[in-house]
Amino acid sequence: MLRLLLPAAAAVVLFAPVAAAAEEVVVYSARNEHLIKPLFDRYTAETGVEISYITDKEGPLLQRLNAEGKRTPADLLITVDAGNLWQAAETGVLAETDSAVLETNVPAGLRDPQSRWFGLSRRARTIVYSTERVGPGELSTYEDLADPKWKGRLCLRTSKKVYNQSLVATLIARLGEEKAEQVVRGWVDNLAAPPFSNDTKAMEAVAAGLCDVTIVNTYYFGRLQKDQPDIGLALFWPNQDSSGVHINVSGAGITRYAKHPEAALRLLEWLSSVDAQGDFAGLNMEYPVNPAVAPDPAVAAWGTFKADELNVTEAGPLQSQAIMLMDRAGYQ
Ligand code: FE
Repeated sequence: MLRLLLPAAAAVVLFAPVAAAAEEVVVYSARNEHLIKPLFDRYTAETGVEISYITDKEGPLLQRLNAEGKRTPADLLITVDAGNLWQAAETGVLAETDSAVLETNVPAGLRDPQSRWFGLSRRARTIVYSTERVGPGELSTYEDLADPKWKGRLCLRTSKKVYNQSLVATLIARLGEEKAEQVVRGWVDNLAAPPFSNDTKAMEAVAAGLCDVTIVNTYYFGRLQKDQPDIGLALFWPNQDSSGVHINVSGAGITRYAKHPEAALRLLEWLSSVDAQGDFAGLNMEYPVNPAVAPDPAVAAWGTFKADELNVTEAGPLQSQAIMLMDRAGYQ
């Protein structure tokens, strides 16, 4: 849709008076400021385009976009997790964006099939284990963590977090609801402690000996490893003989009522480019979405793995089913 507007926009630029106000893009971001500001600063330095932004949790940002409606100043929404991106698209705040550049830079499995949002970094939600009490040979799959051999040895983050809702949604997509529920019930039976408020606390509980295994996004492990290089924890890539490691994204979409849609499109295309992807992913120790860009060396050191090829968007429609399933299974 936006593409159709571009020839007209280009003409406007040609005949614009020299003193015209600098171009501008307004961003609402649920991605933390320290992960986006360095990129925005670089973009402004290279292009002269001013970027103003606010950061907040995904819930309030989406509420705000909905409440502002046509009056919103936001051109671009950046948020994390395909579940949240799906939710944003469902509520109608994102515009369909037709861009050959984005289609080239972002693999099909990591963007909305209706082109309302595009993944910008790829994150893996995987198993972390105690190197003192677990041998990697004991580990195999997410499903296996429901086996009674892990009784009293598992720690998990709360089911309230969208990351776990997306993980369980993919279990439903692969195994069906009944089998997925058996797995989640098994996890709950194996818990050593009530679920933790974040991934880092769950890993710290493993390091402290409260439990032996947990499930986290790898960048939280990366941060902990940076702070405490000798911490007795390691990553394990599960489901390598079956579905692969659970993959999710952070991503962005142009808002339906953007005041600067062409400028927002150019920024979004740049964020997906070879030029920006190393930093976009690297600042948070995530994986680039652009296949032409290698991950940060510290991330690459964790090794390669088979990733779940299920389109990340397939978790979206199953999100509410996943929440109800976790509730039934007693996963708090
Ligand atoms: Fe996170």
